Amino acid sequence: MRQLLLALLRGFTGRCPLCGRGRLFRSYYKVRDRCESCNVQFEPTSGQSTGAMAINLVLTIIIGFVGGIFLVLYAPDRLGAGLLALLAVMTIFHIIFYRFARGLWLGIMVATGDLAHDRDELG
Ligand SMILES: [Zn+2]
Repeated sequence: MRQLLLALLRGFTGRCPLCGRGRLFRSYYKVRDRCESCNVQFEPTSGQSTGAMAINLVLTIIIGFVGGIFLVLYAPDRLGAGLLALLAVMTIFHIIFYRFARGLWLGIMVATGDLAHDRDELG
């Protein structure tokens, strides 16, 4: 459990989930090919970002769901403006949080053993 939390924290903060020393991102969204410290390949196969997209989408939907319930309960007379504001919040969250979702997903991959040094030799 500690390993999972550590890998998630490292990924969330943009560090290599495996060693915690190398930087995960080349730019805001672009993940480096390999860790500059331990040389693990961050995306050994294509489609590695699908899990991150799922995390990001689920969290965005949860925000929309909770926000929608809040609007219906506490601001039913301003539903139109509230929904527009909620959509704006969801959109901004979705764009900004994608980077963190990528880091979290790579942390999950490390914790489940799908991202490890011996993976490099398998190609
Ligand atoms: Zn590393």
